[in-house]
Amino acid sequence: MRISARWPLLILALLLTSAVSARAGDVKDTDVYARLKASLDAVPAIDTHSHLGGPGHIKLALERDFRGEDPKDCALSRLWMRSYFTWGHGLAPWPADDRFETWWNAAQRDFDNSRARSAYRAMLPIFEDLYGVDFETLTVDQAKELNARMEKNYENPELAEEVLVKRANTELMLIDSFVMPLHVGDHFPFMASVCNVRWYINGFHPSEFANRANADPYAFAKHHDLPVNTLDDYVAVLDRIMAEAKATGAVCLKSQIAYDRTLDVAWVPKERAEQVFGKPRAELNPGQIKEFQDYIFWRLAELSAKHELPFQIHTGHARIPGSNPMNLVNLIHGNPRTRFILFHGGFPWVGESGMIALKYPNVYLDSVWMPTLSYTMGKRAFKEWLDMFSSNRIMWGSDLFTLEGSYGTTMYARQCITEALAEKVLDKELREEDALRIGRQILRENALEAIPLLRNHLKGGAEKQ
Ligand SMILES: [Zn+2]
Repeated sequence: MRISARWPLLILALLLTSAVSARAGDVKDTDVYARLKASLDAVPAIDTHSHLGGPGHIKLALERDFRGEDPKDCALSRLWMRSYFTWGHGLAPWPADDRFETWWNAAQRDFDNSRARSAYRAMLPIFEDLYGVDFETLTVDQAKELNARMEKNYENPELAEEVLVKRANTELMLIDSFVMPLHVGDHFPFMASVCNVRWYINGFHPSEFANRANADPYAFAKHHDLPVNTLDDYVAVLDRIMAEAKATGAVCLKSQIAYDRTLDVAWVPKERAEQVFGKPRAELNPGQIKEFQDYIFWRLAELSAKHELPFQIHTGHARIPGSNPMNLVNLIHGNPRTRFILFHGGFPWVGESGMIALKYPNVYLDSVWMPTLSYTMGKRAFKEWLDMFSSNRIMWGSDLFTLEGSYGTTMYARQCITEALAEKVLDKELREEDALRIGRQILRENALEAIPLLRNHLKGGAEKQ
């Protein structure tokens, strides 16, 4: 009697255990994930942010960095050095004896301490997919052979198209070259430019641009015979720069002032900024400089709306104090006609950025860089944002300087987005067909909706305006 009464309990316990272990397992092993991944990998993606150079940069890397008379690097070392692996973390430099073995043995210690970091794991698809090797178990001889294959690959003029367009299935990449679009001459056909406006907030005096010839609005004014005698003149020059940038194919504005100062942009009366205009930095105090910068940043937001060039703004992970996207709320509130695209999801303030997007329909969140900073937080952010606001306002980007690195972060982002959506389906919070549609939006369609000029750069004419 006692035994037979225990059986149903035992069976119930077993059922519960198997249910728990099914959810505790890797979502990537489920059929739902496999179906979503296959469908979403087939979506030609639009990468909203990269720093990749064009064919000239790749040729230069081959000639100077790997084949030069005095090589100070190799392809594998350079790839890691120019990734986010080295942000805040050391990596053994190329050794004085110029031997691969010396570098590899020293670098191993740094890799060992970073095996769980997303900045490391985002690079693994490069080796697995493009070279068929497991980077984590390479011997020194295998690593040396891998490096030789990588350097040989650079001789292939089709390499960028093969890796990014065919393998990663990226149709179009938005490139931030840090200069005015009219100075960008080295692009692959699958690239479009942004108009970088980071330095214009310092236009109180021409001396601010002494070392920034390619981002100098005073040089632009001189070249176009425009006066810059008053603050209004200066703002008119910025207006003209945007018109010209648009005419030369730029599709949006980009600012990363969060690396230079707080994102707390106050509304400043024109008279205050006029008192600063024309004076060199030595004659100004930090408060006056901030007021001028705030005044110009506000004008940039207005010009963004005027020229219909959406405003990509770096938020989160920069100077830590001041890079919280909440600092931008006044600017966003005061400029409802401007389309703000908050970069990096405000990392690590992903909940705060979600709140801003919930309240302001003119705010889009770009997850660019987020999975590379923390895959776990990235996945959580996708899920929370989809809980909070409409799915047509989330984008993604690869955000790297190297070809292979761009491949790695693209595949890592594709995986993170798919995994977040698959979890929502398995949790019965989303139907699979809606997860698929949302995945397409994040990977491609939202970029076209938020930045309409991108359509002019698509390969086919079918989606053009
Ligand atoms: Zn970037």
